Amino acid sequence: MTQVTNRYKYPQPLVDAVSHDGHITSGDISVTTLIDAPQIFYLRKKHKVDIQTDVSDLIWALIGTAIHGILERANITSHRRNALMEVIQLLKEFYYNNREKEDLKDEASQAERVFKWLLKFMFKHYPELESRYEFETHVTLEVNGWVVSGTVDLYDKIDKRIQDYKVTSTYMYTTPEARKKWKLQVNTYAYMLRKKGYEVLGADIIGIFRDWSRKKVGKPNYPPLQVMTMEIMLHKQEDLEKWILHRVKLHQKAHEGDFPPCSGEERWAVADQYAVLQYKEGKAISGSIVSERGLAEKFVKENQHKYKKPLIIEHRPSEWRKCESYCSVSKFCDQWAERKKQTSSQFVNNSSGWEG
Ligand code: SF4
Repeated sequence: MTQVTNRYKYPQPLVDAVSHDGHITSGDISVTTLIDAPQIFYLRKKHKVDIQTDVSDLIWALIGTAIHGILERANITSHRRNALMEVIQLLKEFYYNNREKEDLKDEASQAERVFKWLLKFMFKHYPELESRYEFETHVTLEVNGWVVSGTVDLYDKIDKRIQDYKVTSTYMYTTPEARKKWKLQVNTYAYMLRKKGYEVLGADIIGIFRDWSRKKVGKPNYPPLQVMTMEIMLHKQEDLEKWILHRVKLHQKAHEGDFPPCSGEERWAVADQYAVLQYKEGKAISGSIVSERGLAEKFVKENQHKYKKPLIIEHRPSEWRKCESYCSVSKFCDQWAERKKQTSSQFVNNSSGWEG
């Protein structure tokens, strides 16, 4: 568990709530980590005790957890049944988090016996709970000597579909790399559930956008609704098997310190761009943003006669968006440090960023 700091002196109950990690963790690697870059996996392991996260950065994650909890209880009405569910969840968490710890093994197996019995008791006395949806199904799979684990948000027993809920920003919806990761995640869950004997015919990501604004609807790529159901194409089981084995092997090597640098896709990199603007106007001319300086110069030559003000070219240097704002180990990453060194020396050499 990373250290949680409280930079802005938020109330203690909130700090306690975000510090409690209710995720069931088991095995050698989680599905979400498997999808992520091997370098991130290595740096997280190496700097486990040094990684700090502030409470203020975890509030949205807390809200996401709350939404999952509310969904899970959506078909339960009585307080007594809610209380039972709560106890079962606590025992499940205890079991999965401690079953491999030498000093807690016995207690964990007792917890397992009790929560399994409670589940039987619930379904016997409250048969209506055995409803259409199965929530938070914990799945594990052994691959090349490692155990991969994950939790499927919802399995619809009638339609035989998986649903994965993402409480996220509209920015993530418009970032292709983030969406690709969602697709890989649900495909891996589909593979694992099938291995467990479930029939999986389809999968959906349900995006709940926390910063959605009605005023922005209609802008390119902007989600038209605050809650979007995105159908995910499921790959063939044999293709997924190969892909999962490849990812496990990559992470096993990273575990030993042997990993490739993060790729452009893993860094959410945006390539260099050149935009043409009218002098002292802030907005690029429509259709003028290109990937090469030569193309921007051609645009100026062909279009200058249409404008009174001189046209100028603005260089927009490439960005590594994940490293800048979304990577929890960027502080420890040499690849990112090197990149920052290079861009700051480029900035000194060409401090205006403007090219006539
Ligand atoms: S900071 Fe960037 S390059 Fe470094 S581990 Fe994170 S994503 Fe990869």
